[in-house]
Amino acid sequence: MTDAREQEHGEHERARQRMIVEQLRSRGIHDERVLEAMASVQREAFVVESERPRAYADNALPIGLGQTISQPYMVARVSELARITANDVVLEVGLGSGYQAAVLSRLAKRVVAIELLPALAQRAATALRALGIDNVEVHTGDGSRGYEQGAPYDAIVVSAGAPRIPNTLVAQLAFGGRLVIPISAGEQHVLTRVERTAEGLVTTQHDPCMYVPLRRVGGWLPHD
Ligand code: SAH
Repeated sequence: MTDAREQEHGEHERARQRMIVEQLRSRGIHDERVLEAMASVQREAFVVESERPRAYADNALPIGLGQTISQPYMVARVSELARITANDVVLEVGLGSGYQAAVLSRLAKRVVAIELLPALAQRAATALRALGIDNVEVHTGDGSRGYEQGAPYDAIVVSAGAPRIPNTLVAQLAFGGRLVIPISAGEQHVLTRVERTAEGLVTTQHDPCMYVPLRRVGGWLPHD
């Protein structure tokens, strides 16, 4: 590494440690596995070059094509709500930059990720490969109805905001599985979790949040 590269690397390391303390622990993220995953994934590898100095800022950042990489806190919170264990197979709908998938890949056995926009899917796959992450399977296409071929999933994370909870995604949850999805509530979204339990589906509402919209939901049936 050149001196300048080494210095940048050190700054990112320090920014990542600060993020853990100031953005995550202080706001109530307590799951140690999630904190470890967040501490190990280089967020700067998933942001566009021009945003790199702000890689660890406390907000979402543009990644091109009108899409964003989610705020670090939301990535951690979603990961915590999904309650992922080491043997889990996880579906992410809306791969975007690949950052959330990279964090999930540290928590799960395998991540299946689907992204609508080919250019983003390709860039994310390259970033994941560059970091040596080999347990994320990347697909290009519409994930608004999940990804049937890989189902059932122990957890499904939807990284774009939806008007309501689609049955097609719930149907792809394994017994005991958790779906975490931002659902529209006026101007913003509410992070919502649906768990498939012995007593049926248990839905809980969590943090208010802002996500880009999930596309292709026009075809959802009223209860789909
Ligand atoms: N998890 C991402 C966040 C990306 S923003 C990250 O950490 O960077 C949400 C992404 O969802 C966008 O890239 C958008 O293109 C994608 N998306 C929107 N509708 C989709 C659909 N129906 N199927 C798959 N991806 C979709």
